[in-house]
Amino acid sequence: MLKPMEREVLAQKLTEERDRLLKLARDGLKFSMERDRNIGRDSIDESMEEEIFSTELRLRDREKYLIQKLNAALERIASGTIDVCEECGEKISYRRLLARPMTTLCIDCKEEKEKEELARSQIVGRGAVDADHMSDSMDDD
Ligand SMILES: [Zn+2]
Repeated sequence: MLKPMEREVLAQKLTEERDRLLKLARDGLKFSMERDRNIGRDSIDESMEEEIFSTELRLRDREKYLIQKLNAALERIASGTIDVCEECGEKISYRRLLARPMTTLCIDCKEEKEKEELARSQIVGRGAVDADHMSDSMDDD
């Protein structure tokens, strides 16, 4: 179990990050509303506009995904399971949680998983790794 102080620090980190993402998501929404107003204008090349829009949508999906992860981590703090590895049930160190507050794995399980991912990506080849996977290795752990 983490000390109350430690939980407090993690909760604050997670909340700040969530607020930042929510703000980004709101800005993205504003962007699409402005886009809607621009429909009918023929000054913008259509395919180019389509590309901008799909990039923007992808970004928003990513924010949504991260916000869900942040919320899940906040719930784990509330229920006192934030420092329990979901793979082996061992304790996740506070130091690791400070660096990766969204992680659900202890360092041993994480390293194990990374080895598996590496092996898999070598088989499938670059670029074939699905997006979910990518975010996992880039952000969580
Ligand atoms: Zn573990």
